[in-house]
Amino acid sequence: MNDGRRLYWDEQKCIRCGLCVGICPFDALTLEDGKIVIDHDKCTLCTLCVKGCPVAALMIRPQLEEIARERGVALEA
Ligand code: SF4
Ligand code: SF4
Repeated sequence: MNDGRRLYWDEQKCIRCGLCVGICPFDALTLEDGKIVIDHDKCTLCTLCVKGCPVAALMIRPQLEEIARERGVALEA
């Protein structure tokens, strides 16, 4: 799904409990080598995993902001 927003995983906050993997009804999350991998094609942004994560390590963010963060680029306000 692409409406300008994407699910974002915070590696620093995540405690690798695996709950979100079981919560996602669309099979969009997997835990691989200690990292949550998001299949953005499967994710419908339903927010179930966002609400279910005990440490708020998943959030839905504007895609542009996320790409900028991934690339270490600061967006101008
Ligand atoms: S937002 Fe919904 S569809 Fe996307 S990964 Fe989380 S639970 Fe799955
Ligand atoms: S539910 Fe939250 S803390 Fe647990 S594996 Fe998923 S993102 Fe990490």
